[in-house]
Amino acid sequence: MLATNDATLLAYIEEALPVEQMARLEEQLRNDSSLREKLGNLIAQRDSGVHSIGDIWRRHRLSCATREEIGSFLLGAMSDEKMEYIRFHIEVVGCRYCRSNLDDLAASHHQEAVTARRRKYFQSSVGRLKKSEG
Ligand SMILES: [Zn+2]
Repeated sequence: MLATNDATLLAYIEEALPVEQMARLEEQLRNDSSLREKLGNLIAQRDSGVHSIGDIWRRHRLSCATREEIGSFLLGAMSDEKMEYIRFHIEVVGCRYCRSNLDDLAASHHQEAVTARRRKYFQSSVGRLKKSEG
């Protein structure tokens, strides 16, 4: 089994893990005292205010992508490194915020594509009609 790293625990603290992963981690926490200790340390670190949760997330390269970045990700219009990071963030870390942004953008992107196709079809139909009208 994969070792539960700080990044995953932080995502857990932020309740940013998928539900199944939250449940799995809770199970793991019940059985693993060193993991509980690690979690406790992270929470203490966060609550001490020395490191904001944002700092910790950034340090672990866990910061959320902006909507624009997710849009570019969807279109494959960014560097491989960035693509890989966002893919990791969404698929492996399972960030729910970015996932819902992605789903949302994918849905509207799909809608745009459908509309564009319809428009194209419509224009070519009109073109044919005009031609046949002579
Ligand atoms: Zn995110």
